[in-house]
Amino acid sequence: MTRTILITGASSGFGEATARRFAAEGWRVVATARRRERLARLTEELGGPEHVHAVELDMRDREAVMERLGALPAPFDEPDVLVNNAGIGRGLEPAWESDVDEWEAMVDTNVKGLMYATRAVLPGMVERNRGHVVDLGSIAGRWPYPGGNVYGATKAFVAQFSGNLRADLLGTRVRVTNLEPGLCETEFSIQRFRGDAERAASLYRGNDPIVADDLAEIIHWVVHLPPHVNINSMEIMPVSQSWGALPVKPVR
Ligand code: NDP
Repeated sequence: MTRTILITGASSGFGEATARRFAAEGWRVVATARRRERLARLTEELGGPEHVHAVELDMRDREAVMERLGALPAPFDEPDVLVNNAGIGRGLEPAWESDVDEWEAMVDTNVKGLMYATRAVLPGMVERNRGHVVDLGSIAGRWPYPGGNVYGATKAFVAQFSGNLRADLLGTRVRVTNLEPGLCETEFSIQRFRGDAERAASLYRGNDPIVADDLAEIIHWVVHLPPHVNINSMEIMPVSQSWGALPVKPVR
């Protein structure tokens, strides 16, 4: 039986790599993002509309997400896997200097968009008693760092929401996994630094970061475990990354 994976934010990074990874094994893909031309290119690459259903969608638009993901056309209408991947980071300024519009954009995308997609897709999974929700959290949701303020808080939401979903789903066969990656080279940091590609590149240079294909491989693994096994959460870092000592600084 052909299975279906719905991936939000499939126009770059983890989402795009995951679409490729699963399509290569014959899965149907529902690919959502705002950038229509990127989705069109991916659809073409992965065999056309018979294999990929592209949905141009802004995750912040509640009505559109609920309508379009809640009523997908056959044969894409029974997703076996939902990858809640669409997300953004904006800025690394201290909280008192941050742009409140950017804070809101992170909350609207990473928190509300993820809520809407989950609420749209979950009833079908519960009804079919089959499915897997894979959420993209972050180490930023567990480990505070300077400038992580609202971004990290949105990912803490993802961690707690994922756990609470599992609590609600007890008694069903629907699985939930929260993945918490660390340093990964995608377009994420270019967006975070508002288009400053050189600043983003300097983060990764010489550090052998995780790449999108690594995440796709991990998503593939958690989904293909025996159906009675649920990975609740997984923290993933490149070997070149670790924790630091807690800083102490004289008070001015
Ligand atoms: P990318 O920037 O490469 O991809 C982000 C994806 O999200 C794009 O496809 C983008 O599509 C989509 N997206 C962003 N905003 C919206 C929106 N409003 N509506 C619809 N789609 C949207 O980043 P990554 O692949 O690295 O990030 C994927 C997830 O992984 C994010 O949730 C991120 O927070 C998380 N993560 C990333 C880490 C990293 O270091 N890279 C580390 C830990 C977690 P489009 O712009 O076309 O709409």
